[in-house]
Amino acid sequence: MPSFNLPNANHLLTATSAESLGDYSKSIFSAASQWVQNELDRVVKRSYLLYLRKEPQENGLVKYHTMCRRQYLADVSNAQHCKALTRILAGDHSLAVVRLTWADNHHVPVPHNERLCRFCKCKVETPEHAMLECLHPPITNMRDSFLAKFYTIQPNAVPLCNTMDLRHYLAYIASCRLTFPILAKWAFEVTKFFNATPMLIPSQYRR
Ligand SMILES: [Zn+2]
Repeated sequence: MPSFNLPNANHLLTATSAESLGDYSKSIFSAASQWVQNELDRVVKRSYLLYLRKEPQENGLVKYHTMCRRQYLADVSNAQHCKALTRILAGDHSLAVVRLTWADNHHVPVPHNERLCRFCKCKVETPEHAMLECLHPPITNMRDSFLAKFYTIQPNAVPLCNTMDLRHYLAYIASCRLTFPILAKWAFEVTKFFNATPMLIPSQYRR
């Protein structure tokens, strides 16, 4: 947990005004922010989208924040969609890249590069693969529908192409305010679609 240093006790006991406390709320926010950033650093293999994503500002620009109230929480009215997007961004989702990290009653931990997509079986099953890359036909159909709406609402958006770093592109579209509701819906749909099919667990890692 974050730690704070209170001002010297004698100084406080002899204080003649509240100003002696200094800007304590600022120091609390600073310490808490540093603690959250340290935690994100510690789990960077899962938190990378939080690192890469930028928060839309009032002036129309975007900026990285370790801690703030994320605008999409207000803009996405469907609670299930909002939760699905949060889990994707925070690396707390049900895709193989995360779920096969640990052992359970059915398997031992699976090495990262063997946590393959349950549909195409050729790439690691990550959020960016599921949402932007997988060529399983039902997924490409749903993705095409999402992207068509995305480009309509954001006509000046950078278009997706297969030579891009998909982590950065997913973080980019997760930074575009006007399309938060349709992105959250896509996160919900793709998660639901993957959850309906068992994960691919190589036989050597099964119990
Ligand atoms: Zn795939």
